[in-house]
Amino acid sequence: MTDRSHAEALDAADPLAPFRDRFVVADPDVVYADGNSLGRLPVQTAERLDLLVQDWGDRIVSGWPDWIELPVRVGDLIGRVIGADPGETLACDSTTVNLYKLASAALDRRPGPIVIHEHDFPTDRYVLEGLAAARGLELRRIAEPTAEAMPDDAALVVLSHVSYRSGVLADLPAITEAAHDRGALVLWDLSHSAGAVPVELTQSGVDLAVGCTYKYLNAGPGAPAFLYVRRELQDELRSPIQGWFGQRDQFAMGPSYEPAEGIERFLAGTPPILGLTAVEVGAELTLEAGVGRLAEKSAALTELTIALYDDRLEPLGFTLETPRDPARRGAHVSIGHDDGWQVCRALIERADVIPDFRPPDSIRLGFAPLYSRFVDVWSAVDRLAGLVESGEYREVDAAGARVT
Ligand SMILES: *Cc1c(COP(=O)(O)O)cnc(C)c1O
Repeated sequence: MTDRSHAEALDAADPLAPFRDRFVVADPDVVYADGNSLGRLPVQTAERLDLLVQDWGDRIVSGWPDWIELPVRVGDLIGRVIGADPGETLACDSTTVNLYKLASAALDRRPGPIVIHEHDFPTDRYVLEGLAAARGLELRRIAEPTAEAMPDDAALVVLSHVSYRSGVLADLPAITEAAHDRGALVLWDLSHSAGAVPVELTQSGVDLAVGCTYKYLNAGPGAPAFLYVRRELQDELRSPIQGWFGQRDQFAMGPSYEPAEGIERFLAGTPPILGLTAVEVGAELTLEAGVGRLAEKSAALTELTIALYDDRLEPLGFTLETPRDPARRGAHVSIGHDDGWQVCRALIERADVIPDFRPPDSIRLGFAPLYSRFVDVWSAVDRLAGLVESGEYREVDAAGARVT
């Protein structure tokens, strides 16, 4: 179970193994364990962006008729990844901006207390803190995202499906139902779910969702994010940004704003076509591999990570911060160590393993299922254990890089 040969056997039996060749792997000796932060570059993205740049050069403004529908078309592709019906998802703006737009629209419809998880991703907490302050609303921070923690009087519940920190997978259907029973709308952040774990938004009755595309969807640094609004709710909500792309009959250029019907009312300004083209390729690759198969492989990759943790890392003083039950975790595993930051820097500088670090002490190992191999998991843990067993990690200067 913990031999390298076991990892090799898992790779040999992996139906998704051929997808690795669809990505740029510039240095095969480097073990990339940060797909949960920024996915690899798909080979096809470079080709499609080249074509698009040529098209721009050739056609200039006359290209727009082919480009203008991209937020909706790519949105529908992402919709298939997250279990949304056509016409419920848009690819646009950043996750932060989409979160602001949807939370603000929900609070316009019904003001009241806002519930967040105290350890949610910073941007989510900051955006809601700002909205609550601007509107004089109460912001309630819960310690665990569970159905039982849903209060009776909340207007809006905003939670991450998979915790960026611990990898804990929240029970989305049960929490959504509990919040609805108490009269609240629910907004899920799917940044660490899309392309890694199954999500059934429409079926689960989810009201609102956002998420990013540069993690498991491999759309590239700063690629446009997505937003989802349940169909029945769309005409009841208005975007706080009254931009011309969300306007009914946009090119009539009328005197005042009137929101478009349906999901397009949540667009703001001119869509970033280069970025959206990269999102399109990323979503297509994900659908080709199949969300079910990706989720199965994520569970197997994290299972191997935890088995190797038990064998090699636990005896060295590491702690496991991610649940052992595969039904309760996403696609990354977080391990704690008192010298976590220094160990993480040593992995990058001395061992060609790229994880990332979240203060105060968590090292995140994110093996994205589309292109990671089981031997990558084995090598990462082997090199990590080696650095700590020998004490070599202590030789690394702990001051350093801002982005990890
Ligand atoms: C990565 C991530 C984001 C990123 O937001 P940006 O606007 O793209 O910077 C937001 N929320 C969560 C939960 C994330 O994991």
